[in-house]
Amino acid sequence: PVHIVAGMGTTATHCAYCALQCAMTLTADAVGRVTVGPRDFPTNRGGLCQKGWTAAELLSSPHRLTTPLLRVDRSASFREASWDEALDVVAARLTATQRDHGRDTVAVLGGGGLTNEKAYQLGKFARVALRTKNIDYNGRYCMSSAAAASNRAFGIDRGLPFPLPDLAETGAVLLAGGNVAETMPPFVRHLAAVVDRGGALIVADPRHTATAERATLHLPVLPGTDLALALGLLHIAVADGHADRAYIHDRTTGFDAAWRAAAQWWPERVERVTGVSVQAQRATVAQLAAGARGRGAVVLTARGAEQQSKGTDTVSALINLTLALGLPGKPSSGFGCITGQGNGQGGREHGQKADQLPGYRRIDDPAARAHVAAVWGVDPDDLPGPGPSAYELIERLGTDGGPRALLVHGTNLAVSSPRGRFVADRLAALDLLVVSDVVLSETAALADVVLPVTQWAEEDGTMTNLEGRVIRRRRAVAPPPGVRTELSVLAALAERLGRGDRFSDDPETVYDELRRASAGGVADYAGIGWDRIDAEGGVFWPCPSVAHPGTPRLFADGFPTPDGRARFVAVEHRPPAEDVDAEHPVYLTTGRILQQYQSGAQTRRIAALAAEPHVEIHPDLALRSGLADGDLVRVVSRRGDAVGRVRLTTTIRPDTVFMPFHWGGEQAVNRVTNPALDPVSRMPEFKVCAVRLERVVA
Ligand code: SF4
Repeated sequence: PVHIVAGMGTTATHCAYCALQCAMTLTADAVGRVTVGPRDFPTNRGGLCQKGWTAAELLSSPHRLTTPLLRVDRSASFREASWDEALDVVAARLTATQRDHGRDTVAVLGGGGLTNEKAYQLGKFARVALRTKNIDYNGRYCMSSAAAASNRAFGIDRGLPFPLPDLAETGAVLLAGGNVAETMPPFVRHLAAVVDRGGALIVADPRHTATAERATLHLPVLPGTDLALALGLLHIAVADGHADRAYIHDRTTGFDAAWRAAAQWWPERVERVTGVSVQAQRATVAQLAAGARGRGAVVLTARGAEQQSKGTDTVSALINLTLALGLPGKPSSGFGCITGQGNGQGGREHGQKADQLPGYRRIDDPAARAHVAAVWGVDPDDLPGPGPSAYELIERLGTDGGPRALLVHGTNLAVSSPRGRFVADRLAALDLLVVSDVVLSETAALADVVLPVTQWAEEDGTMTNLEGRVIRRRRAVAPPPGVRTELSVLAALAERLGRGDRFSDDPETVYDELRRASAGGVADYAGIGWDRIDAEGGVFWPCPSVAHPGTPRLFADGFPTPDGRARFVAVEHRPPAEDVDAEHPVYLTTGRILQQYQSGAQTRRIAALAAEPHVEIHPDLALRSGLADGDLVRVVSRRGDAVGRVRLTTTIRPDTVFMPFHWGGEQAVNRVTNPALDPVSRMPEFKVCAVRLERVVA
C-alpha cells in the first residue's frame, strides 16, 4: 500500500466502528503495512472483535476512492475530476438551486460515525453556509427513541449513566433488544462479570441470540410487544410490593398516571400478548428487585426495543420500571441505552440533528439560538428553524417544494433507510446528489458527484463513546494522495459559498469552537480540551470548566429537570404499525451479525469478514413454507422484497424470521422494512413488519 507512510511508529487510537470505541494501537512497519494491536481501556479491557482486528485493511483497500468523480447525468459513467473542478461544480449547482428555488431546497444528511468535529461543522455548515433548515442524520435510525425517552424522564440523554466497568458491580441486568455478543463482543465481559458474581442477566429478544445464550433468563418476546412486556413488569413490581415508595416520593413525579396505565397489564394478559410466560415475568422482576435491594440493578435497551413506531414509549416504560424500583442515581444502577454507531453519542450532541444546536440545545429555544449565533458570528434571526427528521426529509426529496439537492456525509442511506426502493426513487428524483465517502457505497453509486475523503486512522479528532466519555481518535497513517478531510471539503465549499472565513479545516480549532458552542448546554464540553483527553485518556461530559473533574456518574444528587426530579411518563401499549395477515403471515425482525457493521459499506470490503445474507427460520415454519436449509428465500412485504439463504434454527420463534441488514440491492432487507415513524423520535419501525416467504427457484 503505497500511501501508508512507513515509520510513523505506533499510535494509540480507537476502533473504526462501534460505540464501544475499543482502544487499539496502530503500527506502521518499515514497508508501510499497518497492524492493529489491542490496548487496555475501561470499555474493552484489552479485547477487540473481528471487525476491530481487521480494521486496518480499510486503510489500504483497493476499493478506496482517491479522486473526485463527476458525471453529467445519471445515465452516464463517472469520470475523474480535479478537486477544484468538483468543488466548483458542487458550489455552483448549490448556489443556483437555492437562488432559483429557495434555501431549503438544499438538504444535508450526516452520520453518527462522524467525529465530534465533523458533526459540529456539518451542522454549522448547513445553518451558516447554506442557511437551510434541512439537515438531519442517520442517528435518527439508531438510538433516537432512547434519546427522546431519556430526555423526557431525566432531562438529559447520555447512553450510560455511569462508566461501563460499574456494570460488573451490579446484581441484575435486564437487556431489552440487544445482541452485544455479536455487535460489540468486548461488552460481554462486563455482563459476564455480573453472572460470575452470582448476579442475574435477563435478555429480552425474539431470538435466543449469542447474548441470550449467556443469560440466566431469556424472554422470547414477540416482535413489537416489548412495550406490553415493560408495562407488565411495572405491574408486577408494584403489585408484588417491590416498588421503592420512598424513592418514588422523594425523587420522582408522575407515578400515579404511569401506574394506572400499567395496572391494566396483569401477567396473564402480558403472556398472551408477548409470549413471555407469567413465571418468567415474575422471575425478571424478582431478580431486578433483589438487585435493587442489594448491589444494584440496571435496565439496558438497544435497537430491538427502540426501532419501533412506539420505541420512545417502550423505552419510557422501561425507565418507569427503573424509577419504580428506585434505581437511577444509585451506584451501579439505573437505565442505560447501548449506543450503536461509533460516535452515536457525540453525533447527536453537536447540531447535525434537525431540531438541535450544539450542546444538545433545542434549535427553537431563543436563548440557545442567541448563544450559538454569537459563537458563529451570525444574527440569531438568520439561523433556520427546525427541519424534518431523516426519513421525512428523504420522503420529500425531489418533490414539489422539497429539497432538490442533497449532500451526504457519513451515511449509506440507500441501504440503511426503510422502504428502500422508494428511497432509491427519491434519490433519483434529485437534481444534485453529492456524496462524500471513503468507498463507492450504494448511495455514492447513485450520486452526481462523489468526493473521496479520509477515514478514521488518517485524521485527528474526538469521539464520544457509549458512556459519554470523550476520547481521541488519532492520525496514525497518511491518507492516500488525492483524498481530503471532510473538514477541508466543508471549508472549501463554504469559501465558494461566500462564508469561508467561518470554517476552519483544522480539527483542534473546530473542536475548541465546539467547546465554546457547547458551554452551558446539557452536553457541556467546555472543560474538555484535547490536551486533557490526551493526559487522562478520556473525560466524561458534562464538564463545564477545565477545573471540573467531568461527570462519570449521573443523578446521584438529582436530575437535570426543572424540579430536580425524574419523571414517570404514562404510556399505553399499541400493536405494531403493520400486523400479520393471510397474505403476509410471518413477522420479520432485523439486526446485525458479528462480521459486519451497519450498512456494510466498510466491512463488506474486508475479505476476512466475508459473510452472506441469511434468513433465520424455525424448522416448523420452514416445513410449513416448503423451505429447506440452504434454500434461497425471498422475503416479501407490502413495500418490497429481499433475498437471503435459509438458515434453519430453533433459536428463533416459529412465527418470526430474522434477516441482517448489511447488504444492498436484492439482498437489502430494508427494501422490506416499514417506515412507520415513532411520533416522538421519528424512528422508523425497522424491528417488526409482516412478510411472506417465497422459495427462489434457480
Ligand atoms: Fe471495534 Fe466495536 Fe468491535 Fe470494539 S466491539 S473492536 S469498537 S467494532
